[in-house]
Amino acid sequence: RLNELDLLKTVDRDHVWHHLTPGAAASNGLPMFVRGKGLSLWDSEGNEYLDASAGGVWVTNVGYGRTEIADAVRDQLAELNFLAGSMGNKPAAAFAQKLLDKMPGLNRVYYSNSGSEANEKAFKMVRQIAHKHYEGKKYKILYRERDYHGTTIAALSATGQAERRAHFGPFVPGFVEVPHCMEYRNQYPEAADYGVKAAEAIEEVILREGAGTVGAMILEPITAGGGVITPPEGYWEKVREICDKYNVLLIMDEVVCGVGRTGKWFGYQHYGIQPDIVTMAKGVASGYAAISCTVTTERVYELLQEESGDTLGFFRDISTFGGCLAGAAAGLANMKIIEEEGLIENSRLMGERLLDGLRALQEKHSIIGDVRGKGLFAGIELVVDRDSKAPVDESVAIAIAGACKQRGVLIGRTNRSLEGFNNILNFSPALTATAEQIDHIVAVVDEAIASVSATL
Ligand code: PMP
Repeated sequence: RLNELDLLKTVDRDHVWHHLTPGAAASNGLPMFVRGKGLSLWDSEGNEYLDASAGGVWVTNVGYGRTEIADAVRDQLAELNFLAGSMGNKPAAAFAQKLLDKMPGLNRVYYSNSGSEANEKAFKMVRQIAHKHYEGKKYKILYRERDYHGTTIAALSATGQAERRAHFGPFVPGFVEVPHCMEYRNQYPEAADYGVKAAEAIEEVILREGAGTVGAMILEPITAGGGVITPPEGYWEKVREICDKYNVLLIMDEVVCGVGRTGKWFGYQHYGIQPDIVTMAKGVASGYAAISCTVTTERVYELLQEESGDTLGFFRDISTFGGCLAGAAAGLANMKIIEEEGLIENSRLMGERLLDGLRALQEKHSIIGDVRGKGLFAGIELVVDRDSKAPVDESVAIAIAGACKQRGVLIGRTNRSLEGFNNILNFSPALTATAEQIDHIVAVVDEAIASVSATL
């Protein structure tokens, strides 16, 4: 007779359709995890792992096993579990207030359920503004090569990763790609200032399309899934200047970078610029409930409001579970923990320690071509040879991640099976990470690279 756990493993193998794996987790070599605390995960056999990937996809910002959040969600559900988003509720208001406190210049919070949906809401705002103010003409939305914005067809239409898109065309009209900005693979070697040149490449696209047709641009402050790509000096300032010049709304996708991951509350805040719309999900509630937000300036809100005789007098969108009470309660409890435990500062300090550690490994291992990151979000790019920067085969990155797992540390591997992206490893432990945990991660990566390099 199978015990309950073995039975569930069989069901998992035969019936659960896992994301991004051809079969079940079990057949993909992943254990079934049953418990978490802090950065630790335990599998069903009792083995402990240190999770340096925040749940695999940059989510668990305050770590596992936070009873404060679980209690806040449970208390809220016991008191009142649901109201439509058109009705007022206490946690949604309290969470909006706390969030906006950290986002000077932004003033309205629109709730939904996932990062993709938060981006869809932003796109719909842009489209409705185009209809209301520009006879429908300023409808185009620019997105950048290598950036990812989600899984729905419109969010994928705004995603600059060819292989991810490959199976799902045709795409939504009106999404236009602009060149990537990745100094390590500088496509403008002659330019004196890479950041400014990369921003000017966006301006060229606006001029080619016609500024009267471009309503917005969506970008990740630090490209996450596309390879932990930190922007060069001067880039964001120039991008903002170009948006202002052509009356283009700047949408920052903070789904990964938001809520402390990079050592500030939001990634854009490193660069002193003001976005018009900010989207967030993932770490907003550290995975204790599903919630996402599309946060806008008062100006964007007002562009969608009533004027006399206007038939498009407010944002014409709805989402059944957007702003559901459990999500807002979890988001609020999550932010309180980050504040009370000083986790923004910890993310910054431990992030520096992590980057220093990885840079020291770069001195030792020639396979590490580049080390990038901010706060507790770091990446290393693996190359065959530093001069040519030719990427290693995906199997090498898989082997290194596997060797880390064998040693009890789970790390991230950037966008599986995507050509040009699959040589990048990423590290995003919970923002509570201690110096010992960071040093342990670096030591394990050191050993893993040494063991795999020896076989090459
Ligand atoms: N934007 C970014 C930058 C992301 O990394 C992701 C998810 N990986 C999304 C949006 C989509 O979020 P979700 O999976 O919650 O829809």
